[in-house]
Parts: sequence; C-alpha cells; structure tokens
Amino acid sequence: MIPITVVDVRDSAPLVVDVLRSGSLAQGPMVARFEAGFAALTGTAHAVAVNSGTSALVAAVQALDLRPGDEVITSPFTFVATVNAILGAGATVRFADVSREDFALDPDATAATIGPRTRVLMPVHLYGQTADLGKLAPLAEERGLHLVEDAAQAIGASFQGRRAGSFGVGCFSLYATKNVTTGEGGVITTDDAELALRLRLLRNQGMRTPYEYELPGNNYRMSELHAAIGIPQLARLDHLLALRRHNAARLSAGLAGTPGLTVPAELPGRVHAWHHYTVLVGPNAMLSRDELAAELAERGIATATYYPRLVFDHECFRGHPRVPAVTPADFPVAAALTDQALSLPVHPALTESDVDTIIGEVREALGA
Ligand SMILES: *Cc1c(COP(=O)(O)O)cnc(C)c1O
Repeated sequence: MIPITVVDVRDSAPLVVDVLRSGSLAQGPMVARFEAGFAALTGTAHAVAVNSGTSALVAAVQALDLRPGDEVITSPFTFVATVNAILGAGATVRFADVSREDFALDPDATAATIGPRTRVLMPVHLYGQTADLGKLAPLAEERGLHLVEDAAQAIGASFQGRRAGSFGVGCFSLYATKNVTTGEGGVITTDDAELALRLRLLRNQGMRTPYEYELPGNNYRMSELHAAIGIPQLARLDHLLALRRHNAARLSAGLAGTPGLTVPAELPGRVHAWHHYTVLVGPNAMLSRDELAAELAERGIATATYYPRLVFDHECFRGHPRVPAVTPADFPVAAALTDQALSLPVHPALTESDVDTIIGEVREALGA
C-alpha cells in the first residue's frame, strides 16, 4: 500500500536525547530555539510556540480582545479545529463561500459577509496554498478588521514572495502529519511586539513574573521534547518542500487530460507547500470521488477525503448560539468540493515508481 503520509523524524533523536539527559522538560531553551528558527522561516519578527495548532488559533483570537457577539469570518470548507478555536475563544462564527481556484475564502463572498459585528477575517490556506491574500489582506485593512491566517497546512507556502503567516497573525499546526511536526504543537507568528507579548502571557497563565497575573491565561506551552523534534526539520524544510513540489509536478503532468479529473493548480504569484495534493473528481468522471477512492484502495493506493462535509454540517453545531443556521446550499462552491475533492499521496517519501504507480492506476480507474 502506498500510504497517504509518512512521518520521518529519525534525525531528531540526538536532540531529543539531549533534552532527556538535561532533565529540563518544560518550556525552555529548546522552545526558544525552535521559535527563532520558525520566525526566520516565516520572515516574521516573533514566533510563539504552543501545544497545538488549535491552541495557536484560540490564543490568536483571544489576544485580539473581542467582545461577546463579535464575529470571525472563515471558510466552511476546513478542518473542524478552525471553528472549535473560534468558539473556544468565545467569538461568533460566520462563513463565506470559497473560491474554486484555491479552495479558500473567496474575497468577494467574504466582503459581502462583513457585518457590523465582524472583527476578524480568518482565511484557511487549505492543502498548502494560501488564500488570495492580495485581496483579503487589503480588505481586512480597509474595513478595520484583524487578519488571522489559519496556516496550519501551509508551512512553507508564500504569496508574492511573502510567507504564509506574515500577512496577519499566522497560526500553524505541528501535528504529526503536517509539513513540519513536533508530534503535537503549534506556532503563532506576528510582527507586532505587543501582540507577541500578549500571546506569551496567554500561553503561560497570564504570568510574566511568577505568580503575578496580568490577564486570565491558560497553559498552551510547548515542551522541550516537542521543540527538539521540530528543530532539525526546519533545517531541511526547503529540501522536503522541493520533494513535495517535484512529486506534485509529476502527478499533474501524468494526470493531465484524465477525463473528469481536475488537477490542483499553483496560482500565479503563489508558492504551494503541497501539504496535500488534491484532485477534483467531476460529475463527468467515470467514477464518483468515493468510488475512485475505493478503487484506488483496492489497487494499493491510500487516499484521503478532506473534507466530506462542510464544517458546520454536523449535529453538534446545529442550534449552537454562536454558529450561524446555514445549509450547504448557502455555499455552493464549497458544497461541490465536499463531493469532489480527493487527496492523493504527495509526501517526500514517495519514490519515482510510486508516483508512476499512482498516475497509472488513477488513469486506468477513470478510463484514460
Ligand atoms: C491541523 C489543522 C488545525 C489544527 O491543528 P492541531 O495541531 O491539530 O490542533 C487547524 N486548522 C487546519 C486547517 C488544520 O489542518
């Protein structure tokens, strides 16, 4: 079976052992070293490491000091953490439809959704390509809104030469399968020194000096062990991204022209981080998306469906006082994607022959 993801952190062992030998396990110099590396990677002044991508999003929204009823506009086509984080920070969720080009917040739909209580735009850089920051960042600026980027999947992506996470408050995930991993972890990036300080306080129970509480905080700290897992990956990230890029380019060349299949586009001015390689299986294809997934599984190729339903379309959110009463029909572009999107393996551990196999089996399954 060709797996959908392979985690390879063997080169982190020496640094992890250093931490074990040191006996200092809680947030300390390793975390600081990881943060410095991450800030350099995103080209931001500050990086604040936390214990998950979800915590990064919660802390980012909390740091903006919203009032009850204030709204965050985000994508309905995302992982549930985006919505759970908004709710966890006490804010109200609003959704705007996505663009079929990049699967992320559509700037026009977003502008039309802005209301008197809107405080934050939270685009999700889905699959590793940024949203249209050339329109969304100025939109936030013009309307006096904060921009919080859910860049969980977009470590290494950029838009017109600037890295994801450097346009607004950047929120990254270091979960086991993300482009850089610490097992569990997250990072918030910002150029705003005051905001960075607030984030550091929120992360550590609101304490700057022991037992002096400056604000009601939480424990979002990253451990030294987790930071040690991540550090070596920052040094080889460019290489890992190049392997992903190479695999994506080969897949797109090989799959081009397959009837009913749309391969993912890297849009002009953007650098895709290829966290996922996601094709669209259109209504004219010989098989539905789910049939193709089942067929590929039979042929030894793992695939994944991100995401089979819109994020609000689950019982637990129905009637929630801070989630709008919307239906998939309100977001026709996103709703179509839930039926058509299928992610194929693109990870750095794929061999050239694995890529050939994926191309051959997809083409054959779809009658090309
Ligand atoms: C992974 C992910 C998150 C959450 O990150 P965790 O580290 O799992 O908490 C948030 N948003 C998106 C889009 C993600 O893919």
